[in-house]
Amino acid sequence: MMNLDMTRKAGLYLHVPFCVQKCAYCDFASWAGREHLMADYACAVMREMADAPKAGVSVRTVYVGGGTPSLFPSEWMDRVLACMEENFHIEDDAEKSCEMNPGTVTETFLQVLKKHGFNRVSMGMQAGQDHLLKMLGRVHRAKDVESSVALLRSAGFTNFNLDIMLGLPGQTLRDVQETLDMALSLRPAHLSCYGLIVEENTPMHRMVENGTWQLPPVETEREMYELCRNVLEKHGFCQYEISNFALPGFECRHNVDTWLRGEYFGIGCAACGFMDEIRYQNPPVLEEYLAGQMREETVISREDAIFESIMLGLRLTKGIRDEDFIRMHGLSIQDAFGDKLQKPIRNGLLTHENGVLKLTRRGMDVQNSVLVDLMD
Ligand code: SF4
Repeated sequence: MMNLDMTRKAGLYLHVPFCVQKCAYCDFASWAGREHLMADYACAVMREMADAPKAGVSVRTVYVGGGTPSLFPSEWMDRVLACMEENFHIEDDAEKSCEMNPGTVTETFLQVLKKHGFNRVSMGMQAGQDHLLKMLGRVHRAKDVESSVALLRSAGFTNFNLDIMLGLPGQTLRDVQETLDMALSLRPAHLSCYGLIVEENTPMHRMVENGTWQLPPVETEREMYELCRNVLEKHGFCQYEISNFALPGFECRHNVDTWLRGEYFGIGCAACGFMDEIRYQNPPVLEEYLAGQMREETVISREDAIFESIMLGLRLTKGIRDEDFIRMHGLSIQDAFGDKLQKPIRNGLLTHENGVLKLTRRGMDVQNSVLVDLMD
C-alpha cells in the first residue's frame, strides 16, 4: 500500500498464541492443544489487518511474538505475512523480528521468514541446564538451542537474540555462568536476561507457595544480574535497557520504540497497540477474539502520558532527553517533577545532567522504588 505523504511511523506487533505445552511460569495469552484453531486464527488476523485503520502510517518495525510463532504452519505464516505486506506500508529497511522456541524451528519456516524480509530472530533459551528447563516446563533441552541456532545460521539469520532467565528455583550463580558461556559460544547479537516473575494462577506459583520450590534469595538474584552485566560487557555487549544487552548496532528497534512511547499496531488475540494516545488490547481469550469481539481501549490522559514517558524511558540506559520530553509534553522534566527528583538523585539512583534524566547502575536494580519517589 503506497502513500507518498507518510510522516507517521509505527511498529506492528502480531501475536501468535499457540504453544506445544504451557510452561509452569507462563501467564501469557498462549495455549497448548488448540492447533485445530490455527487456520481460523490465520483468517482472523488477516481480517483484522485488512480492517485496521492505517492510512498515512508507515511501519518501521514488525515483531511477531507469542506464544510460539515457529509452531504456526509455514504455509499459514506465509499467507499472513503476505497479507500484512498487502495491507500495510512496510518500510524497505524495516526491522522484522520473529520469536521462536528451540526445537520448534524448521528450515521451511525460516525460508518463509526470509522470503518476507525478516532479519531478526528471538529465541527462548532460558537456561543451559536440563533440570532447570524441565522444572520450568519447557519442551526443549539445552542441546536443542544449539541445533536451532545452527538452523538459523544456515538460513542466513545472524542477528538473533537469546532469552535467559534469572532467579529460578534451584538456580545457582554457577548455572548462570554456564548458561552465559553456552549462549555466548553461539555468537548471538543480543541477549535478554529476565528475572523470573512468579505470576499468580500458574503452577510455578502453587509450587513456590506450597514450598516444593524455593526461590533464591533476592541478593542472589541480584548477583546473577550483576554477573550477566559484567560477563556481557566483557564480551562487547552494551546494556541498553534494564534486561537487554546488544552488540553495538543490534539493539531491538521495535522494543526501543515502545519504550520511547512510539505508536504500534497490535494484531491478534490479546495483542496490545498504541495509536493516537489510545492504548488498546484485543480480546485476551482465543475464542472471543475469533468471534470478533471488540477490543478494549483506554484514552491516555496527559498526566498518564507523562508518567508513561518516565516509567518506560527510564528503562533505557541512555535515559530521557529533556528536549524529547518537552517535545512530547510541552513542559520540562524539572517542571513536571520538581523536588521529587531530589531524593533519588541524593540516594545515587538517578542523575539529571546535561539535559538527560537517567537511572544510575544501582538505580537500574531498584527502578520501581525510584518511580514511587517520582510519583508520590
Ligand atoms: S513457550 Fe513462552 S508463551 Fe509458550 S507457554 Fe512457554 S513461556 Fe508461555
